[in-house]
Amino acid sequence: MSFDYDLFVIGGGSGGVRAARISAGYGARVALAEESRMGGTCVIRGCVPKKLMVYASGAPEAAAESRGYGWLDAEAGDFSWPAFRPKLDEELDRLERAYSAGLEAAGVTIHKQRARLRGPHEVELAGGEVFTAKHILIAAGGRPYLPDLPGAELGMISDDLFLMKRLPTRALVVGGGFIACEFAGILNGLGVPTVQVYRGDKVLRGFDSGLRDLMTEQIAESGVSLRLNASPEKLEADGERIRVSMNDGTTEYYDAVMFATGRVPYTKGLGLEEAGVKTGKWGEILVDEWSQTNIPSIFAVGDVTDRINLTPVAIREGHAFADTVFGNKPDKLDHSLVASAVYTRPHEAATIGMTEDEAELRGDVLIYETRFRPMRSMFAGSDARVMMKLVVDRQSDRVLGCHIFGPDAGEMIQLAAIAVTMGATKRDFDRTVAVHPTMAEELVTLRQPARVIDAVKDRAIGA
Ligand code: NDP
Repeated sequence: MSFDYDLFVIGGGSGGVRAARISAGYGARVALAEESRMGGTCVIRGCVPKKLMVYASGAPEAAAESRGYGWLDAEAGDFSWPAFRPKLDEELDRLERAYSAGLEAAGVTIHKQRARLRGPHEVELAGGEVFTAKHILIAAGGRPYLPDLPGAELGMISDDLFLMKRLPTRALVVGGGFIACEFAGILNGLGVPTVQVYRGDKVLRGFDSGLRDLMTEQIAESGVSLRLNASPEKLEADGERIRVSMNDGTTEYYDAVMFATGRVPYTKGLGLEEAGVKTGKWGEILVDEWSQTNIPSIFAVGDVTDRINLTPVAIREGHAFADTVFGNKPDKLDHSLVASAVYTRPHEAATIGMTEDEAELRGDVLIYETRFRPMRSMFAGSDARVMMKLVVDRQSDRVLGCHIFGPDAGEMIQLAAIAVTMGATKRDFDRTVAVHPTMAEELVTLRQPARVIDAVKDRAIGA
């Protein structure tokens, strides 16, 4: 049977674009459909604009530090959204053009339309055109999940924040995960009085408990009004404002409420049922280690599979797919060790591998930890503390996890992640000569374990 294309990619985000470009480079005839802007969540309404806003929000803190260094008049002044927003738009336009140009240069045919499956080898565009393809890759991404509460539609999602005409005068951010912590910090840094409400007792569930404690403290100390063990129950419009009723009986008024309550795979209306593709509880496309679905011609990568919802993971999954299917170089991603960072200020939380909480369950592990006030901010009069932690296997000496809370922790974890991924031992860290004076040198000068976690069997005997 002859097909219109060797590969049809649904979704022009990080994973889809990488897969399309690399596959085309191997000589495949590739088409890609994108219903919105090329670049997807990360480029258009996620990582990129978010990080630029994190930079923008750091000005008051930079001014405070400058005063500590003798620049007595340093002040950030007022932030101008009307000055920042067009620059942000321009940058996103530039990136979108670069993504499209990269695809076109690789010979990929772009369809700026929504696409859905019609069968194992058939894709239908919103305009009605139908194409056949030997392989189909679904890289449709995820969408914010809104809790089911009255008036939820009055709230915003993170996408909306980048499109605001003006900054809110008082904002509520709902959630305690990546997006909530980052956006509460951004709004606060830009001068918006911000309340963050989280249903648990400390933010960043799933992270190392040391990082969680420090992040929870930092948010509260940064000026965000952090309300723990609480959730909104109802939102009502009241003129220009939103009246929010909380489950603790309180009622408050905001002019912006942002839900950062998780994301779900964007699989609705994709034609998965018609094509016979199996999905899970949240609509995620079920795939094997090669990103292949139960229908052999259909693959899926990125957030739509709900494995690890991070851009670099989607990119690597897309690349591995192209290498495997078109490059004659079978490759798959090891999802067991993936580093990530939460971009808050002044300190970020960054992590790879086993947490101390997981180590407690596994046993036979040494925990090395240091907490200190870094020279730079301490000199300026700040009490902010850095934490660095290594989780080490007691038998093999292998470093199983690394967790950092500090300025630019995301940059530090990227480098530590190379060592951890290579299987470095604690001895390898120890024999690495420090770069002085840096914060990161503490990672290679941790001498004594702070805690020893016994093997589970030893604990049982001792009990
Ligand atoms: P997360 O899953 O990280 O956090 C969701 C938060 O919302 C949790 O605190 C959760 O509470 C809370 N929540 C969920 N449902 C409800 C509800 N019904 N009522 C009240 N609170 C609720 O999702 P995010 O939206 O923050 O981010 C989505 C994904 O995007 C992340 O998992 C990450 O993979 C990716 N991302 C990565 C970034 C980075 O790498 N820096 C930045 C931004 C996003 P609980 O903990 O109790 O479940």
